Amino acid sequence: MIDFAPTDEQRQILDSVDRFAARHLPPDEQQRRDAAHDPPYHLLPVMADMGLLALPFPARYGGLDGDWRTVALVQERLGYRAWMAGSLMNRALGFGGMSLMTYGTEQQRERLIPEIIAGRALFALALTEPEAGSDAAAIATRAERTATGWRLTGRKTWCSDADRADFLVVVARSARGAERREGLSMFLVPRDTAGLHMTELPKVGNNCLPSFDIGLDGVEVGAEALMGEEGAGFRHLGQTLRYSRSGLSAAAVGAAQRAVDLALAYAKEREQFGRPIGRFQVIGHRLADMQMRVDQARMSHLYLAWLIATDRDAGRHAAQAKVIATECLQFVTDHGMQILASAGYAAESEMQRLWRDARLYSFGEGSNEIQRTLIARAMGL
Ligand SMILES: Cc1cc2nc3c(=O)[nH]c(=O)nc-3n(C[C@H](O)[C@H](O)[C@H](O)COP(=O)(O)OP(=O)(O)OC[C@H]3O[C@@H](n4cnc5c(N)ncnc54)[C@H](O)[C@@H]3O)c2cc1C
Repeated sequence: MIDFAPTDEQRQILDSVDRFAARHLPPDEQQRRDAAHDPPYHLLPVMADMGLLALPFPARYGGLDGDWRTVALVQERLGYRAWMAGSLMNRALGFGGMSLMTYGTEQQRERLIPEIIAGRALFALALTEPEAGSDAAAIATRAERTATGWRLTGRKTWCSDADRADFLVVVARSARGAERREGLSMFLVPRDTAGLHMTELPKVGNNCLPSFDIGLDGVEVGAEALMGEEGAGFRHLGQTLRYSRSGLSAAAVGAAQRAVDLALAYAKEREQFGRPIGRFQVIGHRLADMQMRVDQARMSHLYLAWLIATDRDAGRHAAQAKVIATECLQFVTDHGMQILASAGYAAESEMQRLWRDARLYSFGEGSNEIQRTLIARAMGL
């Protein structure tokens, strides 16, 4: 039987997450950071001190040998209390840590997993290109062998955290003449390598997730920069998606519950026509629909975390949890805005920030159309 109730130990960890959020990212501080486009990178070592970044890693690298369900519960709670820290934790663990654990070399793991656990290493994924978004197999960035390693040339776009990351995980075509999925490889490129140029992209939301256009102008890296098997980049990317999609789904569910709670509180307090607006049936039903969507999304992400923790095949459920959670977040923030009306549209409102941020996730991290295609394929279509 699957038991979704947190253990005593997990409850203690979640209590510490609540204290962390209240101290470092209360709602007004998140509003300030969002308005100032000031990501809370300085909190990575704080999360490290709490042990949050050590949770999924083996003890031999300094990790806590934790259960993936604990990671998902923490992500959900961070999504509720401190969305921008939840997003940061997902980036720290996903593109870097779980990628290294899944297909990095032993030398890369020994060097970098302890740095991630200590909150000293951040990774940015440089996958998307101007002509290769959903169609990642269309990647045109080239990797050519040199006497000592590799030379990378091309252009990447929408690379989050690129200006702060210690390493860019660059996906490039290493086999000459290879087509589509064949011949893609992944490279760990230190951010300060000569030949890397970055330009920040202005955008409508997720102001604490800075995004960059990247030029790779003959960037030279050593042979040890290769991550995983040469030519297996496409497969390697697929192997780690379940972790990043689990983290994203969990954080999205937390943020969605936050939007429901904000809307519910407002519906109880705001009076029109001599009564709280929550007493109008249309508002009550809207809130009921919002809570039902969040509860369904929560079951889906917890089930995914259970599949991962128990080493079961999680491919289809990773896609499902991502679709359900991100569409739930969009649904509840959209309806939350309707319930708060002008109070939600005001710049100081937490709802408008959640609503703007939510819009990204039905196409970011693999669009929901592509997720549905993956689900249909897993169903034999
Ligand atoms: C804020 C932000 C942060 C990002 N961070 C990163 C990052 O850190 N690293 C990184 O590499 N990328 C990042 N991305 C890129 C993101 O992953 C892409 O936006 C996403 O993969 C979609 O690609 P696209 O925007 O080019 O859309 P397109 O692929 O051009 O898609 C446009 C539309 O067509 C649909 N579509 C495309 N192909 C199909 C198909 N076969 N069937 C049905 N529908 C289809 C899509 O679902 C979408 O609705 C980020 C993007 C944003 C906006």
